[in-house]
Amino acid sequence: MRTVKVLVAVGAAGFALSGVWAFAQNSGTNPGFSVEAIDRTIDPCADFYQYACGNWLKKTEIPADQTEWISFTELYERNLVTLRGILEKAAAGGAARSAIEQKIGDYFGACMDEKAADAKGLDPLKPELDRVAAATDKAALIDVIAHSHVIGANSLFGFYSSPDLHNADMVIAYVDQGGLTLPDRDYYIKDDPKHAEMRQHLVEYATQIFTLAGKPPQQAGDGGQTVLRIETALAKAEMDRTQRRDPRNRDHKMKREDVLALAPNFHLNQYFSALKAPAFSELNVSNPEFFKQVNGVIESESLDALKTYVSWHLLNSTAPWLSKSFVDANFKMQQQLTGQSEIQARWKRCVDATDGALGEALGQKYVEETFGADGKQRMLKMVDALEASLGQDIATLPWMSEETKKQAKVKLQAIRNKIGYPDQWRDYSALKIEPGDLLGNFLRANEFESNRQIAKIGKPLDRKEWGMTPPTVNAYYSGSYNEIVFPAGILQPPFFDKKMDDAVNMGGIGVVIGHELTHGFDDQGRKYDPRGNLRDWWTEQDGKEFEKRADCVAKEYGNFVAVDDLKLNGKLTLGENTADNGGARIALAALEQMIAQDKTGKAAEKLDGYTPEQRFFLGFGRVWCEKRRPEFSRMLVSVDPHSPGKYRINGVVQNMPEFQKAWGCKSGQPMVAQSACRVW
Ligand SMILES: [Zn+2]
Repeated sequence: MRTVKVLVAVGAAGFALSGVWAFAQNSGTNPGFSVEAIDRTIDPCADFYQYACGNWLKKTEIPADQTEWISFTELYERNLVTLRGILEKAAAGGAARSAIEQKIGDYFGACMDEKAADAKGLDPLKPELDRVAAATDKAALIDVIAHSHVIGANSLFGFYSSPDLHNADMVIAYVDQGGLTLPDRDYYIKDDPKHAEMRQHLVEYATQIFTLAGKPPQQAGDGGQTVLRIETALAKAEMDRTQRRDPRNRDHKMKREDVLALAPNFHLNQYFSALKAPAFSELNVSNPEFFKQVNGVIESESLDALKTYVSWHLLNSTAPWLSKSFVDANFKMQQQLTGQSEIQARWKRCVDATDGALGEALGQKYVEETFGADGKQRMLKMVDALEASLGQDIATLPWMSEETKKQAKVKLQAIRNKIGYPDQWRDYSALKIEPGDLLGNFLRANEFESNRQIAKIGKPLDRKEWGMTPPTVNAYYSGSYNEIVFPAGILQPPFFDKKMDDAVNMGGIGVVIGHELTHGFDDQGRKYDPRGNLRDWWTEQDGKEFEKRADCVAKEYGNFVAVDDLKLNGKLTLGENTADNGGARIALAALEQMIAQDKTGKAAEKLDGYTPEQRFFLGFGRVWCEKRRPEFSRMLVSVDPHSPGKYRINGVVQNMPEFQKAWGCKSGQPMVAQSACRVW
């Protein structure tokens, strides 16, 4: 795991959501940009989102197997069909299959065999549960926990490797808060009825799973209570998401012996030797208070209670890949959290699982079928234009001193970009995929990934590595890598359309590129230097000026209502909102540059009756037209650093004089902020 800024949320941590990222057919909408989405009865200066998306919203229904419907889901839906074609061909077998085709084909094939999964019931997980049952004392349980982490079950805490915050060229070990089933600590701590209800659903879900696993009713019910009790104790010591945004709050490199002293019951040495980790003397303990609590939980809970809890995480993380009754129970919990009314078709879940397990193998085939070299060239040109535009923006900022500007330029020039797919594909030859062994394949794929993470400890950072698979419809910025990354999956309409004018593409993928670049300079990104080290390169005064402007954005968005009377968390969403605002501004500036440079005058012409500037904003709007279930909206307020689509549009345009000029908006109209915020 690495800390990256993604463009949209990718599911909820800690809960085995088998399908937040898989999508259904929705025939009612046009995938690309079209003026048909516009509702011309609305005044764009009154509510631009409603203007740009009104007709789209009228025609769009959220498919039963979805939690939301937005351009990202539409695109991924199309990707799923492509990926299914690749996988079905590979699964059909034949002697001529390449090693990669064997792996992805057999993974998918085993996953699709629902009958076999039903016939096996809990059997495939039995050896793992027996391992837990066999632990005779708490120290022995540490080995079991280490093993369960390796195969993907998240009990008590989290482990990963990542660049050293102060020497990004080297990878070190991290231990971090974790061990929860529900998506956030709020679910365990907050007293309001909605959160209390979810705790009740968790107890019911765990009770049901324990019952399916063969425990008598009383024991199953007690098991559900045990899970809630232990997870509540852990949640209390978790740092909240807003605090975690500041990398300095997660910066606690410690010597092994100090960690041993901090939390002796955690048996650090034993844990890492069970992981077969290479020798190291220091590691980062992201949240030391949490480890004191882990220590306390191990002490105060009985061996039996801890075993119940560890078993629970094994059952919860594998439930989507066991027999139908487990799958259904798991989905029911997901439904409570997100409002999704139907489970996705099995083939979608299996395509998604294959992408999760073998993403860079499946990705190779995907790229061969979909991604041309010309796409990469045009993207590179746009990235260059956006970088130049941000450079210009920094140079002309009235509130920043020359000293800090100089540093900011060095950082901007050092940002690397990755487009489409990795130069070097991951080698999966050590991962054994067996036909007909669904759960075994799933656990071995998790083990393969854990071992890959473990092997990096103490080694130089591989800056060529990718954090997303090629079919992913998303993008990210990483502070430690100081890079922006755009998988092939997002380089399609409505983000990027070869048939469309530059104005629409600049409003789509142009803003996305600008968004990712701006992350290098948001409340989090600005704390990293060009090499990816946590280092303050700002003068004190400029730092204060930044904070003042960021505060304006946090307050502005903190007043937006997400669902019912629930407002956005302005501090949690600050970085994304800063990136949305900065991204739109520099993308529009890049477009103006292109128009000025076009000697034919064609770029300045109206199309469909709209000026290039208007088309830019319409293209921007189209990308964020969104329908979301209220339950899911509520969950995202707690966990998602991104604002809902409506505010990713209206929050930005109301801050932009360029928007007001393009649409002739007047002071006093809703899309003209009284006191507009601007960071970049
Ligand atoms: Zn972002």
